[in-house]
Amino acid sequence: MSDVLLSKLSTELADLDGEIGQIDQQISQLRRKKSELTQKRQAIERKIELKTNEDSDVVTDRWDRDGFPWSDEATKILKEQFHLEKFRPLQRAAINAVMSKEDAVVILSTGGGKSLCYQLPALLANGLALVVSPLISLVEDQILQLRSLGIDSSSLNANTSKEEAKRVEDAITNKDSKFRLLYVTPEKLAKSKKMMNKLEKSLSVGFLKLIAIDEVHCCSQWGHDFRTDYSFLNVLKRQFKGVPILGLTATATSNVLDDVKDMLGIQAALTFRAGFNRSNLKYKVVQKPGSEDECTEEIAKTIKRDFAGQTGIIYCLSRNDCEKVAKALKSHGIKAKHYHAYMEPVDRSGAHQGWISGKIQVIVATVAFGMGIDKPNVRFVIHHSLPKSIENYYQESGRAGRDGQPATCILYYRLADIFKQSSMVQQERTGIQNLYNMVRYAADSSTCRRVKLAEHFEEAWEPSWCQKQCDTCENGNGFVGTSSKESTDVSEAAKTTVRIIEEHLNSAKDGSGRITGNKLVELLTKKLKGSRNREFCEKLIVNLLLEGYLQEDFHYTVYSVISYVVIGSKWRVYNGKDAIKMRHVEESKSRKRKASSSVEEEDVMVLD
Ligand code: ADP
Ligand code: MG
Ligand code: ZN
Repeated sequence: MSDVLLSKLSTELADLDGEIGQIDQQISQLRRKKSELTQKRQAIERKIELKTNEDSDVVTDRWDRDGFPWSDEATKILKEQFHLEKFRPLQRAAINAVMSKEDAVVILSTGGGKSLCYQLPALLANGLALVVSPLISLVEDQILQLRSLGIDSSSLNANTSKEEAKRVEDAITNKDSKFRLLYVTPEKLAKSKKMMNKLEKSLSVGFLKLIAIDEVHCCSQWGHDFRTDYSFLNVLKRQFKGVPILGLTATATSNVLDDVKDMLGIQAALTFRAGFNRSNLKYKVVQKPGSEDECTEEIAKTIKRDFAGQTGIIYCLSRNDCEKVAKALKSHGIKAKHYHAYMEPVDRSGAHQGWISGKIQVIVATVAFGMGIDKPNVRFVIHHSLPKSIENYYQESGRAGRDGQPATCILYYRLADIFKQSSMVQQERTGIQNLYNMVRYAADSSTCRRVKLAEHFEEAWEPSWCQKQCDTCENGNGFVGTSSKESTDVSEAAKTTVRIIEEHLNSAKDGSGRITGNKLVELLTKKLKGSRNREFCEKLIVNLLLEGYLQEDFHYTVYSVISYVVIGSKWRVYNGKDAIKMRHVEESKSRKRKASSSVEEEDVMVLD
């Protein structure tokens, strides 16, 4: 083959690779778009359905009361067996529903008392409640607690001894036994035919009374926490006919809820949802300084000034960040301790106990910390980094102020953190979409934070709910509508941005001239010097990403995933004439600090 022909062919190959690459990008963009539209569609369907169905408040009212045949007995068990004064919101409704053999889903925040919703019915019905739970560690605590109350319960997992397994199997198939609660993981159910067989037997002797599924949002692919093993649970309704199913979760949008009900085959299940607005929480978003030292210094100042002697949580993205931030806070004289999954169990439980008892003021943790924790007087929750979804943010920040007293939730936000988080969540089915919704929350300094949350959870909203208990309302911006006149034409700056990306790409012959988000901000700021500052450039790039003019493109190295910014599908169909608009270009009052002129660390997220 001649050299000329060879070189011609390899050029052709490179061209084709380029085109194929573009198509791949378009496909993934279209996929994302499709799932976005499907979600919207479901939301609308849901709204229509709500109009035609009964109001959920009315449903709750009907169930959350005394006067059922078992009501007196239920109250007696609550007091005498559980040593509790009175029911918390929704507990009675859930108990009445399952005792009436209705399927139900309870949405109640962490620490709200979901466990009692299945524990008490087991005692009331003199039978077995099967509890499906994703976390063995949480279950162990519960079982110890139940046993200390004299309630026979157990879990079956890989560590269970043969004797205990045998004892449980006998107990659940004997209708006169005093055994009440059996905890299993979804895998255990899916894998163990023997287990399923014993449960069928339990049902046939009339002993199995209830199936509870904790963290039920894990059933949904739309959720933020989908687990494949939860798919097996769809057999339960068919296999155990007549046994009510009770799903429990702290967060679920109506999409997720519908999906969960479909998956479990309990489409007609009653839904009990606690009030969504946490009126004692103050929400704030703060522009995060570019350098780590400045950031921890600012956090330390805030804690000393506003939360002296008060307990709090700081959430970080990685174990490394946890350790660094805790160390920095200690150097500022704050009693802080890190907490993450890679610590020795004794150290971890030491940190946990120290914080619960008040010896440690601030726990600096990855989001794994908090599942099942029960500390009512947390006065502040600070997010050192961007959470991966609004669901996560609502749940994590919601660990503040469980005692009903005022508490503050502060989110530190900056552009560079988007790319750290995106490279971690990009593999999840709706990971990027969920993250970008979170970015929309953080980047919007002109809408009440509560309005943003309510929109996301599709909750009806009263402006009076906020009472200036968020940064935007405090600054008088809270209720500017989306049709705000303050939007500015940024088309020229957008074109400059795209030109920078193209120039960068062409600068390397082999097409390796990809650009990271942080680098792009740097180059754009240089180019626009004099007319626009760095804060503007960051905002512009965030906007272009959220709108789809730009998009992230992920590349794998051996140890990490790197996010690059490339031209998005919307730019390819952009005619170059229509104005591209952006709201609130001038520095907002809530952002006291100018975005720092540099970002210290590299923008690569090393996977833990
Ligand atoms: P969740 O699963 O919703 O996060 P839990 O079921 O673990 O919450 O309960 C959290 C805490 O609240 C537990 O310590 C529990 O004993 C307590 N609790 C539950 N119900 C009541 C009640 N009716 N009155 C007082 N305390 C309760
Ligand atoms: Mg729980
Ligand atoms: Zn507000």
